[in-house]
Amino acid sequence: MVAEAQGATLGQLRVWIDSFHTLVAEQKAYLTELDSAIGDADHGINMSRGMNAVAAKLDVSSPSTIGELFKTVGMTLVSTVGGASGPLYGTFFLRIGTSAGDVEELDGSGLGTALQAALDGVLARGKAQVGDKTMIDALTSAVEAFRGAVQGGSSIADAASQAQDAAERGRDSTTPLTARKGRASYLGERSIGHLDPGAVSTALLFTALAKALA
Ligand code: ADP
Ligand code: MG
Repeated sequence: MVAEAQGATLGQLRVWIDSFHTLVAEQKAYLTELDSAIGDADHGINMSRGMNAVAAKLDVSSPSTIGELFKTVGMTLVSTVGGASGPLYGTFFLRIGTSAGDVEELDGSGLGTALQAALDGVLARGKAQVGDKTMIDALTSAVEAFRGAVQGGSSIADAASQAQDAAERGRDSTTPLTARKGRASYLGERSIGHLDPGAVSTALLFTALAKALA
C-alpha cells in the first residue's frame, strides 16, 4: 500500500505545542515527584512554568510560519526555565525552527530532518549519550522510529504513533540505569530503580505529537 503524501501543517504543529502544554500541566505533580526521587523536585514546575509562558506568548504573537512558531517556543523556554531542562528543550525547539524555515507545512521527511537536527542540538548542548539516563534516551528512540517509519513508507500519522511508542520504551529503559548526567548523576548508583523525569516529559512530547498528527 502506498502511503498518502500528507504533511504536518502549521496548525497541526501549533496543536502539538498546545497539547504538550496540557499534558505537562496535567502531569506537573508527577514530574516533580519523579524529580524529588533523583533530583531537586522541580521538573514539573520548570516544564509547566515554561509551557505556560509559551502559551501566553503564542496567544499574542500568532506565528505565520513553522520556523517562527518553533523559534518563539524555543526562545520562550530558554528565557523562562532556569533548570537544565529549559536550555535543552529550548534548543530542541529552536533547532526545529531553524531546520523548518519559512514554510507552512512539512512533509514526513522534512519533519524527520527537523527532529534529527533538534536531537543533534540537544546532544551537543548537554553532552549526554544514550544510556546516561536522561531525556536523550526517550528522544533518540523517538526520532529514530519516526525517521525509520517515514523512510519505510508510513504516513506521518503512523510515524508519529511509532515515535510515541518508541519514546515510551526509551523512557522505561531509564529505570535500571545509573545516571551519568545532570543532578541525578550526583546520586551515582542510588539513581538506579527510578525513571528519569526528563525522559518522562519527552515521552509526553511525543504523545502530544501523535495526537496532533493523528
Ligand atoms: P534541573 O536538573 O536543573 O533541576 P530539571 O529538573 O527541569 O532541571 O530537568 C532534569 C532533567 O533534565 C533530567 O531528568 C534529564 O532528563 C535532563 N538532563 C539533565 N542534564 C542533561 C544533559 N546533560 N543532557 C540531556 N538531558 C539532561
Ligand atoms: Mg530538577
